[in-house]
Amino acid sequence: MSANNSMVTSSQFLISPFEHEEFAHDTGQHENLLFIHCRKTGLKAIIAIHNTTLGPALGGCRYWHYDTSGAALTDALRLSKGMTYKNALANIPFGGGKAVILAQKDQPKTPQMLQAFGAHIGRLSGTYITAEDVGMSLADMDEIAKKTNHARGTTAAGIGDPSPYTATGVFEGIKAALNHCYGNPTLLNRTISIQGLGLVGYQLARLLHVAGAKLMVSDINAIATQKAHQEFGAKVIPPEQAHSALADVYAPCALGAVINSSSIGQIQAKIVAGSANNQLASDEYGQALHQKGIVYAPDYAINAGGVIAIATATKQTAKQEIEARLHSIGHTLSEIFTIAAKQNLPTNEVANQLAQERLENAAKQMDHAA
Ligand code: NAD
Repeated sequence: MSANNSMVTSSQFLISPFEHEEFAHDTGQHENLLFIHCRKTGLKAIIAIHNTTLGPALGGCRYWHYDTSGAALTDALRLSKGMTYKNALANIPFGGGKAVILAQKDQPKTPQMLQAFGAHIGRLSGTYITAEDVGMSLADMDEIAKKTNHARGTTAAGIGDPSPYTATGVFEGIKAALNHCYGNPTLLNRTISIQGLGLVGYQLARLLHVAGAKLMVSDINAIATQKAHQEFGAKVIPPEQAHSALADVYAPCALGAVINSSSIGQIQAKIVAGSANNQLASDEYGQALHQKGIVYAPDYAINAGGVIAIATATKQTAKQEIEARLHSIGHTLSEIFTIAAKQNLPTNEVANQLAQERLENAAKQMDHAA
């Protein structure tokens, strides 16, 4: 042992993955962990299968520069668990899984590396189904699909970029929230503050504009906000004012953790509903929003449009069929809002309970059938 050991920052990897915080505290949930190292192509990846009660584990593959392999493992374990809950709440017959490819400093992502990754997915015989996530492209998915049938969102089998479906789902969710608050889902003359005009945010802006909403938009990219100003007559505001804007709905569509100790007291909108992942800096902010009387659409319920589309899409599926399924996001959110109001609970807690119930019921049915 050298003195350098004291400088190791990734404590997770000094212990077995079985003792890893996310794994150990999640007894009976994560089912499978696969560490892949292909020396020929340089591929280093982790596939985490969290729960397959509802079906094969479906979740994207992330390509990311992690500071430590422990950080990559933590990400895979957390994200795969999140997919179990998201897929359960979206009512699709899939469990939760996620893969991460550890980007290496001096080694670019190559077709060979992606094909090696596909071959490993192939060996899992459909227990894990992959899709696009941060750092991956449609072309990357097509490389993976050369070696496995268990890749979605490819040119051959998929829908391509899922963000239009995510935007439609968020649009449905905003209408459900308005209906819950005002007894009417209409967007005419409602004011929405959209934070982030990227793939999802811009398409959401278009849908809201067509439905008659007044838009306030913010982004660190001035080209996007100017475009929205010209195209939709949107009022451009600084990104740091998006949450405190005098609007009916605050729609975070950029970063996570935007509901935090400094923003919570400044939110003016009655509704928080947007696509961003992990909007609550921690679960306690769900309670804080509830206490302030703000209706929060849990992020993983409202942003499920992309995964619903990926799960539904086949070569034969019509676009209209997928879009019809996106309406279920509005129904699920209405159910969450109603239960939360009746039981005086934060909506994020109710969403977790509903997902958990669906998993437990499916597990009981499986036990029954066995
Ligand atoms: P994107 O990268 O295309 O867009 C993000 C936008 O946010 C960019 O325009 C960026 O300039 C802007 N931005 C960055 N920092 C900002 C800040 N401080 N203030 C205001 N704007 C800022 O991403 P996307 O695909 O549109 O996804 C948006 C969010 O929705 C992300 O949190 C993503 O994880 C989540 N999400 C996306 C999908 C999907 O289908 N794309 C699905 C589920 C969840």
